[in-house]
Amino acid sequence: MGILKNYINGSWENSNSSQLLNVMDPGTQEVLSKVPMGNREDVDAAAKSASKALPVWRNVPATQRIQYLFKLKKLLEDHVEEISRMCTMESGKTLAESRAEMQRAIENVEVACGIPMLLQSEFSEDIAVGIDEFVIRQPVGVAACIAPFNFPIMIPFWFLPYAIACGNTYIIKPSEKVPETMKLLFNLLDQLGLPDGVVNLVNGGKEVVDAILDHSEIKAISFVGSTRVARYIYERAASNGKRVQAQGGAKNPVIILPDSDIEVTTRIINDSVYGCAGQRCLAASTIMMVDDADKVFTEALVEAASNRITGYGLDENVEMGTLISAESKERTENLIQKGLDEGAQLLLDGRNASIAGYEKGNYVKPTILENVNPKGDLNKTEIFGPVMGIIHVDTIDNAIQLVNENNYGNAACIFTSNGADARKFRNEANAGNIGINIGIAAPMAFFPFSGWNDSFFGDLHGQGKHAVEFFTQTKVVIERWPKEWTRKF
Ligand code: NAD
Repeated sequence: MGILKNYINGSWENSNSSQLLNVMDPGTQEVLSKVPMGNREDVDAAAKSASKALPVWRNVPATQRIQYLFKLKKLLEDHVEEISRMCTMESGKTLAESRAEMQRAIENVEVACGIPMLLQSEFSEDIAVGIDEFVIRQPVGVAACIAPFNFPIMIPFWFLPYAIACGNTYIIKPSEKVPETMKLLFNLLDQLGLPDGVVNLVNGGKEVVDAILDHSEIKAISFVGSTRVARYIYERAASNGKRVQAQGGAKNPVIILPDSDIEVTTRIINDSVYGCAGQRCLAASTIMMVDDADKVFTEALVEAASNRITGYGLDENVEMGTLISAESKERTENLIQKGLDEGAQLLLDGRNASIAGYEKGNYVKPTILENVNPKGDLNKTEIFGPVMGIIHVDTIDNAIQLVNENNYGNAACIFTSNGADARKFRNEANAGNIGINIGIAAPMAFFPFSGWNDSFFGDLHGQGKHAVEFFTQTKVVIERWPKEWTRKF
């Protein structure tokens, strides 16, 4: 069985760590390969290779740097199926979801191809007689991404294309649960002909992360994962003087007003709760039925959820895949029980699921809990499984208040046909991504992927112009030349 390698200084290298972890197919519980857990020497080798490449790469004109990205876009498009299949095998999501991830990754490459214009800056002539002042944007240096398991393709591409387009060199540490997908992506990066050391891959877990956070040659860190780890990353990297953006967990509320469109609302909420089996930082989790909305919407949501086909992700008809691990399945089922203990009722029970032919997989089917206790633990806990919690609320004001009592702030959505209510919600809700008649408010690549409160630590978000700001440092130049070179006074 294959042992995964690191990609350092333009070639595939064995890890210095002999500690191995099984990479599993969570839909079958078969072992796919083994990943080394990595160590400080691995990170040091990657950081040195990226440091060595930096002076070469940052001096390649931006117009030339993006030629590599154009080539990458084409390679990604040509390998959608191969990479999507691997992503599905090791993450457990459906093929359609993996293909959508590829599309999102490609869109970020496309936006980063605009870097020659995005790097343009301000210039003021004659701030005093014969003196000009301007800003230039220069790369931050060596930067690194620490990624979660749930979007093995897309999330590193919120950062990598912008980082290298801006002239930085880069290190990726994928989740140890899904390293095979990143291997395939690095096979494509390897074909670009980039100078050695511009992109590097280090496999591993906590020891590798800590080495990245402490390494003096790594200047910027992009993290995506759970809130507990995001806070730790932010604190440790910032105290080491690094630039950090750390995206954390979520518990996303959705408000349904009685005047919402029944067909659109039901379909979109069903997708938002159960897409990627609920393992999504933008998953809808708490559904707030305002006034008498529950009369029609609860029944419609139960029916839609009951009809969702759960199964092995590579089977094309499947609409919902598996959870990432046996621990995740157990945790999700325990949280369902917790909701019941806190007073909720089960409208749909997805526990103890068994999928014919895949009996060992970590499946939980769509679950719906009604009358979730708004003050209970479940309403504050990210489930990261296919569970919808319904809460009944009298007014939109009370619903917004509940939204704002949430410690997280990744996303919040409202479904209504009333513009004034939608506008009030947009203005008052404490969340970084807002959906209005949209379930998964996932920003396009040319917008920042926002996130507030315990869902984000830092200032600048991933994607779009925020990414350009994050991956560059501004240098202000005040310039005077001899009088005869500028003008006669
Ligand atoms: P995780 O926090 O367990 O792991 C994320 C990364 O951190 C992995 O690479 C892992 O190796 C590393 N890591 C784990 N524990 C560590 C520790 N103690 N010290 C140092 N490094 C550590 O997250 P996950 O389970 O892979 O992903 C799911 C979480 O990610 C969910 O909470 C989800 O909401 C969140 N997420 C957030 C966003 C967002 O945009 N806000 C997007 C996707 C996922």
